[in-house]
Amino acid sequence: MNKSITVMPLIEGTLTESTASDTYEVINPATDKPLFSIPVGSEADIDRAVTSARTAFDDGRWCHTSPSSRKKILHRFADLIEAEAATLDALDAEEMGKPISVEFCNSVAAAGLMRFYAEALDKLSGDVFNSDRNNFVTQRHVPMGVVGAIVPWNFPAYCVVLKCAPALAAGNTLVLKPSELSSRSAIRIAQLALESGIPPGVFNVVPGTGEIVGKALALHQQVDLITFTGSTAVGRFIMHYAGQSNLKRVMLECGGKSPHIVFDDGVDLDTAADAVTQLMLTNQGQICSAGTRLLVQNTIEDALLEKVALRFKKVVMGNPLDPKTTFGPLATAKQYAIVMRYIESGQASGATLITGGKKALEETGGHFIEPTLFQGVKADAPLAQEEIFGPVLSTITFTDEADAIRIANNTRYALMSYVWTHNLGTGMRIADNIHSNAAILSGKPTSVGAGHVVSIEPAGLSGFGTESGLAGMESYLRRKTHTFLYG
Ligand code: NAD
Repeated sequence: MNKSITVMPLIEGTLTESTASDTYEVINPATDKPLFSIPVGSEADIDRAVTSARTAFDDGRWCHTSPSSRKKILHRFADLIEAEAATLDALDAEEMGKPISVEFCNSVAAAGLMRFYAEALDKLSGDVFNSDRNNFVTQRHVPMGVVGAIVPWNFPAYCVVLKCAPALAAGNTLVLKPSELSSRSAIRIAQLALESGIPPGVFNVVPGTGEIVGKALALHQQVDLITFTGSTAVGRFIMHYAGQSNLKRVMLECGGKSPHIVFDDGVDLDTAADAVTQLMLTNQGQICSAGTRLLVQNTIEDALLEKVALRFKKVVMGNPLDPKTTFGPLATAKQYAIVMRYIESGQASGATLITGGKKALEETGGHFIEPTLFQGVKADAPLAQEEIFGPVLSTITFTDEADAIRIANNTRYALMSYVWTHNLGTGMRIADNIHSNAAILSGKPTSVGAGHVVSIEPAGLSGFGTESGLAGMESYLRRKTHTFLYG
């Protein structure tokens, strides 16, 4: 593994000393032992990076490069990410605990996403409006300018590409702030951007803490768009910073409380139990779209829970760097403590603990928690309402379709839902009436579906702004109108 990556700002193509003298210690969550320290960062670091990105945007070194050249460079960038995918995944696994065996949102997937945007960049065109014969009115998509990107730790390398791929494809320059828990893959990816031919100054990275570096980036007057993925609590700050500074455009991809809804209408319960387990336990439940509420029709509750509990007990818990491990530690001691508090609150509120609920692999010193399943959770209890961001599934029963929709919508988040039914009408009505995006499932998913072309837009406390797909690239562009009036 390449451990030689030094965490320091990458500005104008060069690794540069931070102006901050304070440091933040990064801890291995599988052992609770320190790995290395990173600078906490400073407003001055951000100012240097934004100035670099501003200059690079204004002199057109990237946005004025022909689309075919940019496409070639982004394809090369994708190839380099894929070639180093194993190293990038291992860096992330060591810092935040995602097992290298878990393919979901890994670095190979990130390379695929980069390829999608390489291909997409010359597919968006503008409009020519119908007009009278003395006017010619057109609208072009132009880059926003300097993009500030703030990303979380849960899929570090993938989240970096989720932001930089559409931002760069759209012709913007970028300052990215990785999570303080997982900075190395971000810095390595920005170095690969340089190797692929993206000019210095176009893609800058400033590591550090959110309160210092993230805040300075979101407050900066020369940033035109801030794209944020993280918690709803910090998302509120980002909106505030944008309002306090230059009314920069804001995109927020925040938390979720997604339901699985399982109907007693012929659904194969083994298939549903497999999917419920996978969508709940991948990355130890630290996924924004994790299905953390299990809404099950009362007639099949016991049968389904028995199957889910069996699967929860079968995870292979251990060192995330071991290819056999399927379930790693929680990312931090703080996250561990939060999840444990939710488990205690569930027990205190009278919900029944079916399996899990305890610390695991104590001898490692790591932050491991058993996959945890609760039954009889009240729909308005914290377990059913708040984003836990850990391996805790809360079961609530429903009687019929209307009851299922009512419970599913009884949350202020609206990101995703997973509906198991064999009835086309039920699926259509749920898709229509549920506030969040919805996957209607009737059998085992056997393919990748539409892949990267699908975009997604959250609602409520899950945020706003479209991410992924061609529509996601439009989020990094603005529509500029030109009217030609001739006599
Ligand atoms: P977080 O909100 O704590 O941190 C996210 C980023 O914001 C980090 O880089 C952090 O340093 C920075 N930050 C923290 N305080 C800041 C401040 N005051 N100003 C500016 N930046 C600040 O989130 P996290 O713990 O890293 O990630 C988990 C959260 O991310 C969960 O809520 C999860 O649902 C969400 N998430 C959402 C999506 C999505 O697509 N909707 C995807 C992944 C994760």
